[in-house]
Amino acid sequence: MSKSVEWMDANAVSNGLGDVAHAYDIRISDSEASTNETLMKTALSSAVDGSVLCVEHQYAGKGRRGRQWLSVLGGSLTFSVLLRFERGLQSMGGLSLVAGLAVARAVNRHSRHPARLKWPNDILVGYRKLAGILVEAQGDMNGSAFAIVGIGLNVRLTDTQREGIDQAVIDLAEMDVTVGRNQLLADCLRELHMTLSIFREHGFPALRDEWMAMDAYSGKEVSLLLPNTQAIQGVDCGVDNTGALMLCDGNAIPTAYSGGEISLRLRTCG
Ligand code: ATP
Repeated sequence: MSKSVEWMDANAVSNGLGDVAHAYDIRISDSEASTNETLMKTALSSAVDGSVLCVEHQYAGKGRRGRQWLSVLGGSLTFSVLLRFERGLQSMGGLSLVAGLAVARAVNRHSRHPARLKWPNDILVGYRKLAGILVEAQGDMNGSAFAIVGIGLNVRLTDTQREGIDQAVIDLAEMDVTVGRNQLLADCLRELHMTLSIFREHGFPALRDEWMAMDAYSGKEVSLLLPNTQAIQGVDCGVDNTGALMLCDGNAIPTAYSGGEISLRLRTCG
């Protein structure tokens, strides 16, 4: 397999998008601290729905709670998408799960090793993390609002780069996925377009079954780490219609947990 880097090219992405190219306004940048931060600034001024910022080199990528996301020059696919919603923040429940679903679908077009989902929005292959998503939203509860959906996906990481990450990781090269980054970005955007059109019209319930079918932790013993550092144990029972995680913890009815501050951990891999 060739190790030459395919640099990002907005025209190649548009060509790959075909009949949904009109839905996106794609910009490629050489270097950004964080695509989410840059796109957030433009979203607060005039940027249109479907604006995409893809970067070759992101040097201060963010995860949840200020954690770091590692991107490497030529070895990552790193981009953010601006999505505007006229019915406010209340209509965006489950959006981060929908974004995860879109990325997993795109990867699965090319992979023999199934990409699956970890609540709320990581993409795993064999319990190792292939991609992460950070959704940041602003606006009115019921009026105009927007979300920046930031996606980082590992294409090819060196051993030294992997050692800098404090959890199990995987990249496309290891999975023998050879699709170019431009085509992969086009596929992610195409799947995002398809899942979003369902989500905008019917909400998360219309995508819930598909999400659950790809849930890597379904039926597994898990721990939930809450913001107050409390750990709760139980069995992952999927997600409810709002995208909240349902934990079967011995009570008759599963308890629903939601919010960007909660971490899910597997207790057994059996
Ligand atoms: P949690 O496990 O607590 O739910 P998370 O795994 O979803 O959180 P995020 O905040 O989404 O974490 O992402 C940041 C974390 O992802 C980092 O703390 C690091 O462990 C891991 N990470 C950072 N860069 C990469 C990468 N390129 N590939 C895989 N994992 C990464």
